[in-house]
Amino acid sequence: MTHCLIRVFPLKIRLPVTSAIAILLATSVATLAAETQPTAAEAKAVVDKAEADLARMNEYAGRAAWVKETYITDDTNWLSAKANAEQTDLQVKYAKEAARFDGVEVDPVVKRKLYLLKCGLTLPASSRPGASQELADIEARLDTDYSTAKFDYKGRTLTLDDMEDILRTSRDPAETKALWEGWRAVSSPRMRADYANLVALANEGSREIGYKDTGALWRSWYDMDPNAFAAETDRLWRQVEPFYKNLHCYVRARLNEKYGDAVQPRTGSIRGDLTGNMWGQGWGNIYDIVAPKTASLGYDVTDALTSHSYSPLKMVQTSEAFYTSIGFAPLPESFWMRSMFTRPGDREVVCHPSAWDVDDKEDLRLKACFTVTADDFYSVYHELGHNMYQRAYAGQPFLFKGGANDGFHEAIGDFAALNAITPTYLKKIGLIDTAPGTDADIPHLLKIALDKVAFLPFALLVDKWRWEVFSGQVTPEHYNDAWWALVKQYQGLTPPGPRPGNAFDPGAKFHIASSTPYMRYFLADIYEFQFYRAACRQARWKGPLNRCSIYEDKEVGKHFAAMLAMGQSQPWPEALVAFTGEKALDASAIADYFAPLNAWLTEQNKSEACGG
Ligand SMILES: [Zn+2]
Repeated sequence: MTHCLIRVFPLKIRLPVTSAIAILLATSVATLAAETQPTAAEAKAVVDKAEADLARMNEYAGRAAWVKETYITDDTNWLSAKANAEQTDLQVKYAKEAARFDGVEVDPVVKRKLYLLKCGLTLPASSRPGASQELADIEARLDTDYSTAKFDYKGRTLTLDDMEDILRTSRDPAETKALWEGWRAVSSPRMRADYANLVALANEGSREIGYKDTGALWRSWYDMDPNAFAAETDRLWRQVEPFYKNLHCYVRARLNEKYGDAVQPRTGSIRGDLTGNMWGQGWGNIYDIVAPKTASLGYDVTDALTSHSYSPLKMVQTSEAFYTSIGFAPLPESFWMRSMFTRPGDREVVCHPSAWDVDDKEDLRLKACFTVTADDFYSVYHELGHNMYQRAYAGQPFLFKGGANDGFHEAIGDFAALNAITPTYLKKIGLIDTAPGTDADIPHLLKIALDKVAFLPFALLVDKWRWEVFSGQVTPEHYNDAWWALVKQYQGLTPPGPRPGNAFDPGAKFHIASSTPYMRYFLADIYEFQFYRAACRQARWKGPLNRCSIYEDKEVGKHFAAMLAMGQSQPWPEALVAFTGEKALDASAIADYFAPLNAWLTEQNKSEACGG
């Protein structure tokens, strides 16, 4: 599964820390002590000015970034980097200003805006002279270590992309082991000392702005007490764990049949390098190994798109038609004029899909290099979900333009895509002639589960590890052991061989090396099913949940739009209830969606020792 980027005011950005932070935080501490208590009227004035300044800056930085990403030259890189640095400085300035009003009685709207301004900090540096520069240097080194790592293999020099390509299809366990170990050997061992220093520096800064440690700061983004949020993630995991274990047991048995006991034992953990993915975070690439013998998928969306002469443009139009069928207005003419749907032949571009909201009003754009495949067909619904959300909250004040939390934005389009992959919908739009019988649902559900359910424990443990590291519960000499303890406990995966003493395997994942928070993906994976189940209940759907499509249901669309229009103006439970009627996260929607598959897996697993 790919995680796209959205171009909105990045409230949860990782701040590339500049020396400005040291100065600003130093000033902040000094002024806090020296000044008289700030007033509510001052708070309102600061928030108003911040909104005006940040909105102006966002459009400027957005336009610079767009031209850079769709036309990479030295000059556009220069312009975009300059705009980014200016934007960061401004965000730091206002984050610090907002912290001055901690404890000041203000009205609820101002209060929320102050909270959102402070949420901008991901890795805060302390005011100690030199601290912010040190942190910035470490971040840059970690980024470089990760993005420039290459592995020499059989006379070829492989990038991570090359290695991932081979892992997808290689069925030679010696090769998958070599690549799995090779990537970790070249990318991360030298990161460990840097990472330990990064943790110490970020904690120092977090304590200065009132958090116990950086993990507590990250957990404070969810409108609840940081400890309550941690407990909440455990509760959600317990809801999905039985199903995950059932899937794990089934996949392990098929891998055992394919590779034999010496490579993959019938009990215990699954060898991570056999999952078709570098981190074992999605297993869809090994569908061929685990596919049911007795039932087939019945249709192939890539083939259907090709035989119906779909182009990337037609895929986007088809997706737009899904959203308009549930009551959303058509995308503006400028979207079609300015978006980039395919790779241009005459220049370098950033192909990674992203959805943009350039002026925070009407100027929506999509940038991707789509090809006519089932994966990209899905991706279009995902990206347009971001665009629909952006437009829905365009009427909010600037600081409220954003997802209800960072999980929401990723879940919107995936919710739409769950509708779009049903045979019910594909038949309605003429892509397939007949919907296959429900026995074909098992292979389809299995394919989806291999990505979305296999992903859950990984999405959970990345930040669980960081929470332990930031809190000091895990010390640098135990970084790697603690990582593997979590991987074993949650994913049930094992490395293909003993890990060397200098290994730093967490650093072999982009989001660790780049300090990008990860819990949002765990939440999004749950929200999308919760949205979907709620929508199907509202549509009074009868039959298996996985066959439900709300295509053309304007009544459901109205409730959906009401949630989107709130942006981040309210705590996220308020947004959730506006659409679903439910106030809490509920992963039981996943069990409901996959119920037929879970029953089938239980049957397949009945002679397996699944607990072992
Ligand atoms: Zn996305």
